[in-house]
Formats: sequence, C-alpha cells, structure tokens
Amino acid sequence: MPIHEAPPPLRIGIDLGGTKIEGLLLGPAGKEMRRLRVASPSGDYGATLQAIAGVVAELLSEMPPETACDVPVGIGMPGSISPKTGLVQNANSTWLNGKPLDKDLASVLRRPLRFANDANCFALSEAVDGAGAGAVCVFGVILGTGVGGGIVHSGRLQDGPRASSGEWGHNPLPWPEPDEYPGPGCWCGRSGCLEAWISGPGLAADHHQVTGEALKPTEIAERAANGDTGCASTLKRHASRLARGLAHVVNIVDPDVIVLGGGLSLMPHLYRDLPRLIAPHLFTDAPYIDVRPPRWGDAGGARGAAWLWP
Ligand SMILES: [Zn+2]
Repeated sequence: MPIHEAPPPLRIGIDLGGTKIEGLLLGPAGKEMRRLRVASPSGDYGATLQAIAGVVAELLSEMPPETACDVPVGIGMPGSISPKTGLVQNANSTWLNGKPLDKDLASVLRRPLRFANDANCFALSEAVDGAGAGAVCVFGVILGTGVGGGIVHSGRLQDGPRASSGEWGHNPLPWPEPDEYPGPGCWCGRSGCLEAWISGPGLAADHHQVTGEALKPTEIAERAANGDTGCASTLKRHASRLARGLAHVVNIVDPDVIVLGGGLSLMPHLYRDLPRLIAPHLFTDAPYIDVRPPRWGDAGGARGAAWLWP
C-alpha cells in the first residue's frame, strides 16, 4: 500500500474452518461491529466459496453500496496457498487442497483479499491486541482438531517462500520414549506427528488406546478433575508431549510469549504445568517460558484474518 493511503477504516475477517465459517466486520481500533457464523459445507468446495460470499454479503448488508464495495477481506484458512503452485496445500479440510482458492474467491467476492494460515491469524490476533500484546515475539499455537502455529515478530507475521512458517504440527514428537515410537499414523501420511499426539482427536485416541474408553477431550478433562486416575494419567502424558513439542519451538524461535488457542486451550492445568515441563529441554541458563491463555478465544481466527489488513 502506498504510504499516502490511509488504512481502511473497516475490514472483514473470515475464519474458514472445517466445521464452521465465521465472519467478523471490524471497525477502527479493532471494534467488533458484526459477527456471523455458518456451518462449513464439509467436502464441497463450490459450496464453500458460496458460503464465504454469503457471509461477506450479510456482514455488509446494512452498509451503503459505495462504502461496502471497498471493504477488504482477510481469510484465515487451513493450510496455505503454495507460492509455487498457487494452489491450497496442507489443509486438513482436505477438499480445499489443490484448489486455486485465492483466484476463485477473487472472482466471487470482487474486492481486495489477503490470505493466511488460520494458526497464523490466531497468532496475529493475540499479538496485536490479545494475550501477547506488547511482546516482541509471540508464538501462537492452535490445539484443536488439528495442531498449528504462527510466529509474530514486532507485530508482523513471519512467513517465507514456502508459506509454511510455524507449521510444527507435522514435525515428529521430540525426545520420544521407546513406547512412543514410531507413534500413531497421521492424515499427512507420516507417523508420530505432533498433531497425531496432541490435537483433540490425538488426546482422545491416546486415552482410548491406553484405557479402552472412548471419551471426548472435554469428558477426559472433567473426569480427571473429579479424581479419575486414568483420565489424569492421559492428561499428564498429553502435557508432557505438548511440552516437548513446544520446547523444540522455543529452542529455535525463542519467543517472549506462547499463547495457546483451540479447544484444548481451555484446560487450565496446561498453564500451571507447561513451564515446568518445558524447562528441562531448553538450551539456556534461563529456562523460563511464559505460556498464556488466549484473550479472544474462539474469535481470534476471524480477528487475526481481519488484521491481515493492518
Ligand atoms: Zn502429520
């Protein structure tokens, strides 16, 4: 953007998830003006494009057309658009992979668009005016159906020629115990990916594997809080694996703050236990790490997508 142009007073953020599409109209100073959530047309690419168009149209429906036509849109998406091919890569909403999402949405929406990985959007949201506000370097982590991450330094998303910065979910579990190797299979084709261990489904699968009980992560957390020792052990294994994964990141990125997001970020024991569990793996004589819950919770993805237009 040329420096004489003022930043847009309004911007839209879209969080394109596997189960829902959330849209947010953000005003000056990050004021939330309208919010809308619809179900994702799972498995149907064409319907996904139309659903996004419908959300944008609804968010702008009370605005005069001459104002609405200039409002830019940021899209937080699973995976990323490959700089090499221009096609979606690495999305766990696999029906998006191989599709020219940016070109197709440009022809549907006919307005300025920016795209970023959903975990990058979460990290940006928490760094701009969330739990990591004021920190120089923020590593934002999504622990949900999938596992992703984003790095924000000095208020800017860090990304590179592969559009894969912060993608730690498909690195292998570091410092594995003998019974953790080779680890569970992952949808990406590898085994022992962090995502397969520490995502919500990974946590549930590990509990099922060890105890034979099929429980959701929320049920495991509830039962552990009520004294169920099997569930407590599952959470302990999960926290240890998450800590080892995060220690690997800290040794490379050295963030000031880690902010957790996604459904599993609601588990309060993580903020108590992770610093202690991460510390032994840090290559420093100051093995302290600040792990914080998100300010914006579920809303962070759409807010960060809107902040792609600073
Ligand atoms: Zn994987």
